[in-house]
Amino acid sequence: MISDEVLGMFELSNDLLFGRIPEDKYRYYVEEPLRLGREAAEKVKGAGGIFALYEEAGIEIIYQEASGENYGVSFRAQSEYGKDGSAKVLMYKQSIAELAKHSCDYVIGEEEALALHLAHEYFHYLEYHSSEIKDDRTQPYYSHGFVSDYLEPVQLVKLFGRRRQAGILRCSEIAAHAFAKEMMGLEILPNYYDYTWLMAGGKLRREDFLEKARQFEEMVRMR
Ligand SMILES: [Zn+2]
Repeated sequence: MISDEVLGMFELSNDLLFGRIPEDKYRYYVEEPLRLGREAAEKVKGAGGIFALYEEAGIEIIYQEASGENYGVSFRAQSEYGKDGSAKVLMYKQSIAELAKHSCDYVIGEEEALALHLAHEYFHYLEYHSSEIKDDRTQPYYSHGFVSDYLEPVQLVKLFGRRRQAGILRCSEIAAHAFAKEMMGLEILPNYYDYTWLMAGGKLRREDFLEKARQFEEMVRMR
């Protein structure tokens, strides 16, 4: 079993600013988003499941048959937010089915994979509706704004003597994974499936993945 912290490190390491994070802060940038995601999942538990939440929020779900492939980057779900508070989520069914097919040792079905992506996107909706558009309806579920803004920024190189700072965007992803995991009652942080998919496609060797996991295990314990 690969821990949430280690899979969180996998996500964090994909951040463009990963190199700016001090080693003794890895733990913070992984544990805090995990906590925020889990907390929000706990709060929506009485709301009747992910489809009920979409209905309550009036979020439109649009199913696309084609895979979401664009310039070699494939995506499985995408959210669009209107300035009026409206939202729609595009679900790329083929890509999601592919992921379910290669769910490997923590098997999920297509329907479950779909709900998982809806849950992930719903967390981003909560982020958006607690920062860009203040929404009284979703505040009881989650009220911290974008996770990457809520957490401490990292220092960037000084430019003309001015201090520059930036948020770690991948922390929003870690929180959304934790939210989806908790809501769906999954055994593993769902970005795991990004890697089983890569391994199935021959783009990542299992031993390399496990070696990385061992390294991240050590890094996330550093203080
Ligand atoms: Zn996301």
